[in-house]
Amino acid sequence: MRCPKCESENIVLNGLTRHDKQNHKCRDCNRQFSLNQKNKPISDETKALIEKLMLERVSLRALVRITGVSLQWLQSYVNGKFRYSPQFRS
Ligand SMILES: [Zn+2]
Repeated sequence: MRCPKCESENIVLNGLTRHDKQNHKCRDCNRQFSLNQKNKPISDETKALIEKLMLERVSLRALVRITGVSLQWLQSYVNGKFRYSPQFRS
């Protein structure tokens, strides 16, 4: 991950925006930005972690905080994954 302004990799997480997107901050130029996570590939490790945590009934919002994926992505992933599992029907 790089700063869109100065291309530094010295990035820290900076909480969530009001749209539940992960906010980031560049420590070199202090620019704040949220990445468009729609196009960000989610790693198999992250997916495995999500599935493990879901079995522990961790809430979607907690999963977003833990894994850093977007809530939108998580919801569509969960809907596809657990469509046939009554446990996760909303
Ligand atoms: Zn920067």
